[in-house]
Amino acid sequence: MTSGKKLVILDRDGVINVDSDAFIKTPDEWVPLPGSLEAIARLNQAGYRIAVASNQSGIGRGLFDMATLNAMHVKMNRAAAAVGGRIDAVFFCPHTAEDQCECRKPKPGLLQSIIERFEIDPASTPVVGDALRDLQAGAALGFPTHLVLTGKGKKTLAAGGLPEGTKVHDDLKAFALTFLASLSE
Ligand SMILES: [Mg+2]
Ligand SMILES: [Zn+2]
Repeated sequence: MTSGKKLVILDRDGVINVDSDAFIKTPDEWVPLPGSLEAIARLNQAGYRIAVASNQSGIGRGLFDMATLNAMHVKMNRAAAAVGGRIDAVFFCPHTAEDQCECRKPKPGLLQSIIERFEIDPASTPVVGDALRDLQAGAALGFPTHLVLTGKGKKTLAAGGLPEGTKVHDDLKAFALTFLASLSE
């Protein structure tokens, strides 16, 4: 496998940054979770690129616009860069459930686009999320699935019904350390 094909796919809200039931609507509301950006840097250092796959129905609901979403991601990228990390791409679904699109997770459209863009093998590409729909989207395409207990993660674990083989981690940093350690076993 070439280093260019090494990729980790992350959900955004509740995995990289603090989540809110009221949506993350402004760059000010985008606040990283402790250790998440350092975890991204660790993965980068091991040769992994990072793609984000995120439902952002706040756009479809008119809560914020594309320029504001871009501004949030400028903040995210700067914050990651400040600790030596890099996020290569953000794939997002701007639709609401009523739109019945193919990209809103648990539909696998965002992850399908990532497979095509990065030419990756799902079987060796971890998908990390805090919600069942993140994991369902990954499992539908044969990705190994990882639940973090930040964001909605504890509720997700308690509700059960995780895709078979889902591994559970306290947070993104714990995922990164466990995942990287597993590669040298
Ligand atoms: Mg989430
Ligand atoms: Zn969509």
